[in-house]
Amino acid sequence: MSTPHPREERTLVLVKPDGVKRGLIGEIMHRIEQRGLKIIALKMIWATKPEMDKHYPKDEVWITRLGEKTKKTYDKYGYDLKGELGTEDLFEIGKMVRGWLLDFMTAGPVVKMVVQGVHAVDMIRKIAGNTMPYLADMGTVRGDYSVDSAAAANKEKRSVHNIMHASETTEEAKNEIANWFTEDEIYVYKRIEEDIQF
Ligand code: GDP
Repeated sequence: MSTPHPREERTLVLVKPDGVKRGLIGEIMHRIEQRGLKIIALKMIWATKPEMDKHYPKDEVWITRLGEKTKKTYDKYGYDLKGELGTEDLFEIGKMVRGWLLDFMTAGPVVKMVVQGVHAVDMIRKIAGNTMPYLADMGTVRGDYSVDSAAAANKEKRSVHNIMHASETTEEAKNEIANWFTEDEIYVYKRIEEDIQF
C-alpha cells in the first residue's frame, strides 16, 4: 500500500471555549489559512460531557502522562502535591486533570474544524504553540493570546486555558476527526495554490 501524499494529511482543530469567548475564532482561522492550509470542515457546537469524554483518550498511559505533567509542575514550584490534590498517585491525579478538562471544554461553545495540507498535524501544532501558554513562543496562538500556566490552573483546580486544541499525531487526528465529523461533512476542493505548476 502506498503512503498518502503529504498534502492529503488532515488534522482536527478545536477552538476551545476561552478562544470562542475572546473572539479569536477568526484570528485562528486566518492564521491557518494564511499558512496555506485548507479548512475542509467547520462547525460550532456546544459539546456534552459524553461527547467530550470520547474526544480525550481514556487509556492509562495518556491519563498517567497528564498526572506526571502535573507532578512536574508541583515539584518545579515547590508546591505540596498531596496537600493540594489529596494524592500522589499519578493516574488518580491524571483523572482529576482530565475531569477539569471535560468541565472546561463543555463550559461554552467550541468551533471544530478539519484542516488539510502538507504535514497539517505538525503545522497546526506549530501554529498553536506549547501546551503551556507561559512557555509558548511569541507568534504562536497560545503565545500571543494566552497567559495561563499549569501552576495557576492546578492551584485553581481547573484546566489550563490555552485557546485551541490540535491533534498530536496523524493517528490521533484520524480518530478525532471520525469522532467529530461524518465523511459527508468534509469537503474536497482545491485551493488555488494547488493548481500552480512550474
Ligand atoms: P495539548 O495536546 O497541547 O492540548 O496538551 P495535552 O494533550 O497534554 O493536554 C490536554 C489539555 O489538558 C491541555 O491543552 C490543557 O488544557 C490541559 N492540561 C494539560 N496539562 C495540564 C496540567 O498539568 N494541569 C492542568 N490543570 N491542565 C492541563
